[in-house]
Amino acid sequence: MPPPQRTFKNSNTPNSNINRPKPKIEKIELSEEDKENIKTIMSGRPPKKLVQRWLKEGVSMHNAEKYYNPPSLEGRLKFIRQKYFNGLCHICQKFPLYKVSYKMGTAALIEYYCEQCFSRMSF
Ligand SMILES: [Zn+2]
Repeated sequence: MPPPQRTFKNSNTPNSNINRPKPKIEKIELSEEDKENIKTIMSGRPPKKLVQRWLKEGVSMHNAEKYYNPPSLEGRLKFIRQKYFNGLCHICQKFPLYKVSYKMGTAALIEYYCEQCFSRMSF
């Protein structure tokens, strides 16, 4: 079955989602440094800040990398989620690219979506 049509571009036209107010959609912008950091942390290599500290302390990179014990994958995911995103994709739990918020009276409902899931949604 093909994915449902994306209707985001025509968000002024009424859709079936009438119970929800019109959301505010923000793209999560990360700097190149942040993206690089995320890649490094996910790979299990020591993060740049730690490497810089080692260099300052005169630890040889060979020894430092040899004894570096990266956090578990779960720990790395948690760290990245908290530091860079606040939440994970509402649908697939991957790192999100979009933040979608609905204002409901004084409260706001916030949902995060990755690129893939976002492209399948109609808001
Ligand atoms: Zn997703």
